[in-house]
Amino acid sequence: MTRLLLIGPPGAGKGTQAARLAEIYGIPAISTGDIFRSNVKNGTELGTKAKAFMDAGDNVPDSLTNELIRDRLEDADAQDGFLLDGYPRTTDQVRELDSFLASHGAALDAVVELEADPEVVVARLRKRALEQGRSDDTEAVVRHRLEVYSEQTAPLVKIYASRDVLVTIDALGEIDAVTERITEALVERGIAAADTTSR
Ligand code: ADP
Repeated sequence: MTRLLLIGPPGAGKGTQAARLAEIYGIPAISTGDIFRSNVKNGTELGTKAKAFMDAGDNVPDSLTNELIRDRLEDADAQDGFLLDGYPRTTDQVRELDSFLASHGAALDAVVELEADPEVVVARLRKRALEQGRSDDTEAVVRHRLEVYSEQTAPLVKIYASRDVLVTIDALGEIDAVTERITEALVERGIAAADTTSR
C-alpha cells in the first residue's frame, strides 16, 4: 500500500516518471491533466468547461477538479494505493485532499518533488510541442504555466516538507537515472517496490 504524490513544474517529466513508478509500485498513476485532456478529446461537459482554462495555462477551477479527483480516488483500483500527478496544485486542493484522506483513515507516504531549471523545462516543452501538438505547449502559454506553478503550486513543497514527507529529486539527466534516484530515495524512507512475484 503506497500513496505517493508527484509534484514539479510543467516539463519536469512527471508524466514519464509517473508511468514508471506506477509499474514499480503496483499502483495506478492518476493524472488530473490526463483526465482533463481525455474529457476535452471526448467532448464531455467537463472537458468543455475545462478547455479554456487549460489552453490559457491557468488552473481549472477547484469546483471542477476536486469532485473529479474524489471520484477517481474512490475507484476500486485506488484503494491499495495510488500515485497522484498534477494534484494537488493549490493550497486549497491540499486541504481537500487532506480531508479526503483523513476521512478514509489514510495518509501520504511520500511527496516526490521533481526539480528542474525553468529554462530546461521550457526547452523540453518546446520539443514536446513539435512532437505532440499539445495546445498548451506554445511558448507564451508555457511561460504562463511556469508562473502559475511558482505562484500556486511551489508553496506546496514547503507544506509537505514541514510534514516530513518531502523527497526532492534532481529531474535532469536520463529518464532511467531519474527513476532510479526516486526509487532509491523512497527505499531510504522505507518505501519498497511492489513484490511482483506474489501477484
Ligand atoms: P503540466 O504539469 O505539464 O502543466 P498537466 O497535464 O498536469 O500539465 O496539466 C495540464 C493543465 O490541466 C493545467 O495547465 C491545468 O489547466 C489543468 N489541470 C491539471 N491538474 C489540475 C489541478 N489539479 N487543478 C487545476 N487544474 C489542473
